[in-house]
Amino acid sequence: MRIHNFSAGPAVLPEPVLRRAADEMLDWHGSGMSVMEMSHRGKEFIAIAEKAEADLRSLLAIPPAFKVLFLQGGAIGENAIVPMNLLGGRTSADYVNTGEWSKKSIKEAKKYGKVNVAATSEAANYTTIPARSTWNLDPGAAYVHICGNETIGGVEYPELPDVGGVPLVVDASSHILSRPIDWSRAGVVYGGAQKNIGPAGLTLVIVREDLLDRALPITPSAFHWKEQAEAESMLNTPPTYAIYIAGLVFEWLIGEGGVAAIERRNIAKAKLLYDFLDRSGFYTNPVAREFRSRMNVPFKLRDEKLDDAFLKGAKEHRMVQLKGHRSVGGMRASIYNAMPVDGVRALVDYMADFERRHG
Ligand SMILES: *Cc1c(COP(=O)(O)O)cnc(C)c1O
Repeated sequence: MRIHNFSAGPAVLPEPVLRRAADEMLDWHGSGMSVMEMSHRGKEFIAIAEKAEADLRSLLAIPPAFKVLFLQGGAIGENAIVPMNLLGGRTSADYVNTGEWSKKSIKEAKKYGKVNVAATSEAANYTTIPARSTWNLDPGAAYVHICGNETIGGVEYPELPDVGGVPLVVDASSHILSRPIDWSRAGVVYGGAQKNIGPAGLTLVIVREDLLDRALPITPSAFHWKEQAEAESMLNTPPTYAIYIAGLVFEWLIGEGGVAAIERRNIAKAKLLYDFLDRSGFYTNPVAREFRSRMNVPFKLRDEKLDDAFLKGAKEHRMVQLKGHRSVGGMRASIYNAMPVDGVRALVDYMADFERRHG
């Protein structure tokens, strides 16, 4: 029997995807091989990769002017790969600091160029997003970088900001495919796969074509977006099995009604949990309401001495990975696309019961 897995990542995957992968493990579609054993240049795997890209394009309505790259390196890798690919001819980039993942992006970018922190919510302990009107943007910046959803702090942009003519770069690792993307405002959207897409090891980069000629000469070929775009992400061996599972997740999403339907479900799941937190005097969530993440819900118990009992009881109810990130403490429930409504309902029921017994 499966448990309710609230892990922030690697995270829960849709059960039908795992069953299908199990069925196809030894012999993919009569090929006599596992996908793991296929040449990335063979016709079977090329078909898998092409279908995955086509399905992703349709799910997110990605315009033809954007290239989709299936790379390795993870989002932390991409934190360095972004400045390498975009700083050519410019000296600085603007970053908005909304929490732990923004800080990591800033740290990496500083190795390659000058970083201007255009806005920060540090004074509010990263529980909000600074109003767009207060951002100190540099019109000569190579790009503006934001973290679309702060996985640790549980802070999410309700929409992509308008930053004018400077390309907007979005780390969407923990909310990609949970909602539509406004491509008129985005230059680059990237993310590791292991939160909302599939297994770790795959990094998605969706980049507007006109941004492909700005790489620094030091950019390694495997991370050079233009070279990878020209090679259909096969300049090096791509993470083939992770691409296959991601493709199955895309098919599953299409079967569930696509991003619009999954977004409605995500809104309902998040509402269930936040409404409960707001009614309770026992649990608290610190994030400004309009910026509360639909994917990652941090919360604290009134008395942190009860944390261990809460986690132990949750485990007895087959709910795991609820411990908050060490940098913020407390609890965190990650409720990605693949978390069923029933999982969130079970969590709320358990929390209510725990409150009755200890409140
Ligand atoms: C998980 C996460 C990362 C880091 O991903 P890695 O694959 O570990 O490099 C970066 N940004 C955000 C927003 C994340 O949630």
